[in-house]
Amino acid sequence: MAAVPTRIYQAGPATLAIVWADGKETRYAVRDLRIACPCATCRDEMTGERILDPARVPDDVRPVNLSSVGNYGLKIRWSDGHDTGIYSYDRLREFGDAT
Ligand SMILES: [Zn+2]
Repeated sequence: MAAVPTRIYQAGPATLAIVWADGKETRYAVRDLRIACPCATCRDEMTGERILDPARVPDDVRPVNLSSVGNYGLKIRWSDGHDTGIYSYDRLREFGDAT
């Protein structure tokens, strides 16, 4: 089954939560999510290895805008100005801590 979110909300100052179509909810520390950014600037497209230096990500980084990309995933604009990462729902579902 494809992972489809029914609700995405800020569960706390640094916590993003996604409720999925099957009723499961996953949570994310927003800074971890920023560090896990899958875009070509942050991650080597060939090896999947991280290029981004986590030390350069501000401790208080926050998502400032969320927009869905079709049924595929979520585009997040961050408070550090970064906005090229598209997080696929499949990946988010895998990456999240189930509650
Ligand atoms: Zn990125």
